[in-house]
Amino acid sequence: MKTVSILGSTGSVGRSTLDLIAGHRDQFKVVALTANKNIALLAQQAKEFGADYAVIADESLYGELKQALAGTKIKAEAGHKAVVEVAGVKADWIMAAIVGAAGVESTLRAIQQGTTVALANKESLVCAGSFMMDAVAKYGATLLPVDSEHNAIFQVLNPQQLAQVNRIILTASGGPFLRKTRDELRDITPEQAVKHPTWAMGQKISVDSATMMNKSLEIIEASYLFKVKQEKIEVLIHPQSIVHSMVEYIDGSILSQMGAPDMRTPIANTLAWPARMKTTGDVLDLTSKINLSFELIDIKRFPSVKMARDVLDAPSGASTVFNAANEIAVAAFLDRRLKFSEIENVVAETLQMSDIKAIPTLEAVFESDINARRIAEKVVAGVN
Ligand code: NDP
Repeated sequence: MKTVSILGSTGSVGRSTLDLIAGHRDQFKVVALTANKNIALLAQQAKEFGADYAVIADESLYGELKQALAGTKIKAEAGHKAVVEVAGVKADWIMAAIVGAAGVESTLRAIQQGTTVALANKESLVCAGSFMMDAVAKYGATLLPVDSEHNAIFQVLNPQQLAQVNRIILTASGGPFLRKTRDELRDITPEQAVKHPTWAMGQKISVDSATMMNKSLEIIEASYLFKVKQEKIEVLIHPQSIVHSMVEYIDGSILSQMGAPDMRTPIANTLAWPARMKTTGDVLDLTSKINLSFELIDIKRFPSVKMARDVLDAPSGASTVFNAANEIAVAAFLDRRLKFSEIENVVAETLQMSDIKAIPTLEAVFESDINARRIAEKVVAGVN
């Protein structure tokens, strides 16, 4: 029996993870599940999977959670600290699927167990990448990428041949507005932005995909995960979302991983690793007249990709600011306080207004994150 915990079990990735576990109940024992506010689903999941712990980040919901779990042996806990602590409860495999920098401490705590951590929470790497990767080495943890692109690279990148890699090619669907001009983006609504053409995902990452900020975060994520310079990371638009990413070696070989756009495949890859498990996910039908197309990304149309490269060339604090500003801008857009077309401008302006320097400690990362959020909120207020 593999013991597993899921941080962010009520989200899109969390639910897909439990869906996989449901198909293999004899192989997995659920230790802990966490959520932010969704008590009803958290309690239902904890009961269905016989979890030892159910933790809600919103402290004010403790009473309700306790009530929802009455009559069971499941331990109810609440608060951000409790989420971080439960990430430290022993488990063989921990899914880090909280959205945003809110997941930094719990992801780090899971890594500090020296266990296997499946990383969906890309923002934690963007916010505090060097501290995460140092902890992976220090505590002997295994960090497995869940993001479909990074999981694809993980599957085809031979670590012994890193020096012979020409390029890492991240594919990008282009999101729902790929063919729209920047002028046409002004009045995009949250409802339109969260409707991704090929993937079903949570709200924040759906907006990030629509702005291409998701790919920008992924460039930074890839540079930390695979220890490659940004110049070696290319982005190609691939609207079909079938080739999930590629590695090009110096001998001209390009290795790719393909599959239907279904997160259960990369999650299963990390859940069963180093073995493989059967999934109920969609399987790609190669005879169904698939047309694979790839095109260069237009940096003028999607300026955040260039921003991510500049961020990686700047002192380490830049990526913390980049992530924080984007989180604020996306939340403001979803809240209808900011126009869709202003999201990248808020991030660019926040970067300009911030004191970007190398960050020596994790405490300094959090400080920089808070400062950047404050600046970004001001920028948002000024734009409107
Ligand atoms: P969702 O918004 O669907 O789910 C987020 C999860 O995090 C929920 O369980 C939510 O709880 C919880 N959460 C939100 N805020 C907090 C907080 N402040 N403290 C503790 N828990 C919190 O997101 P996704 O599942 O789409 O994405 C999760 C992560 O995975 C993101 O980093 C995303 O970029 C990454 N990812 C997602 C993919 C996808 O297909 N969805 C693909 C690749 C990467 P509650 O339900 O109570 O709000």
